[in-house]
Amino acid sequence: MNTRRKFLQSFAALGALPLLSFMPNLKKRQKKYTEGLVVSTWNFGVKANTAAVKIMNDGGNALDMVTAGAMEMESDPTELTIGLGGLPDREGHTTLDACVMDSIGRAGSVCFLEKIKHPVAVARAIMEKSPHVVLVGDGAQQFALQNGFPKDEYQNPEAQKAYREWLEKSEYKPIINIENHDTIGILAMDKKGDLSGACTTSGLSYKMRGRVGDSPIIGAGLYVDNEVGAATASGLGETILRSCSSFLMVELMRQGYSPLNACKEAIQRLVKINSFMNIGDYQACFIAVSKEGEIGAYSVHPGFTYSVWKNGEHQVLTAGSLLS
Ligand code: ASP
Repeated sequence: MNTRRKFLQSFAALGALPLLSFMPNLKKRQKKYTEGLVVSTWNFGVKANTAAVKIMNDGGNALDMVTAGAMEMESDPTELTIGLGGLPDREGHTTLDACVMDSIGRAGSVCFLEKIKHPVAVARAIMEKSPHVVLVGDGAQQFALQNGFPKDEYQNPEAQKAYREWLEKSEYKPIINIENHDTIGILAMDKKGDLSGACTTSGLSYKMRGRVGDSPIIGAGLYVDNEVGAATASGLGETILRSCSSFLMVELMRQGYSPLNACKEAIQRLVKINSFMNIGDYQACFIAVSKEGEIGAYSVHPGFTYSVWKNGEHQVLTAGSLLS
């Protein structure tokens, strides 16, 4: 038996104990929440949350809930910011980014995907059926087609019209509107208290061809740790990518921060890291859920709404913000 195998076997015999000693769980955990909950970005999230709750009531787990919620948004052919109805890149092609992460730490992500209606389902298939985490572009499309996702040539007439108007000036300025964004990030806890998350978007409108934002990037646009909590993001992806915000929020919750304080701290960190940029030129928005079922949200600029289903009720709430 080679030395490496011997080492791995003796390590396995020790169980998870040595790992735990390097990863102290700093916060004393309270009782986990087992009533089920869903939280998602923006007021359109109510639609996603409704689909997720239906799945929960039919016996689905947290992964099924977030997949259903995200797919509901991708199914709307008039939605200009998610799915095939989304505004195109600067060359006129709608390209899609999505990811999922589940309660046992699995993750799947698809970037720069074209002509497939449900990127989030492709991300889930990558997680469940391939040995990989991320597939991009033509390879991702090929994987989707091979796994039974049909090619879909749909083009949203409204998005095409907006693109033709944009072409008249072709101003390439990746500035994101403060109150109206592109991404559905959805976090769910099922009745066992297990957490999962998903994120799906057509990304920044009129983006450079090939551009990928934070939304499909595990740790930036989404992160789930079933021992601690989950977090997701919307806003100018470049700022969120630089600060690895979703992973940061989960790690802050591990240290005892409430979801709200984790969101606030992560926003402050993002602003600091992106301080070479003009803060007036971007928005970033976060939501987080703890294992105890607490929910938090925060953004750089005012105007960020988020949708919650908890205790049998739907609510649209407005997050606090760093700037007023
Ligand atoms: N985060 C998305 C992106 O950068 C856009 C958004 O959420 O508004 O692609």
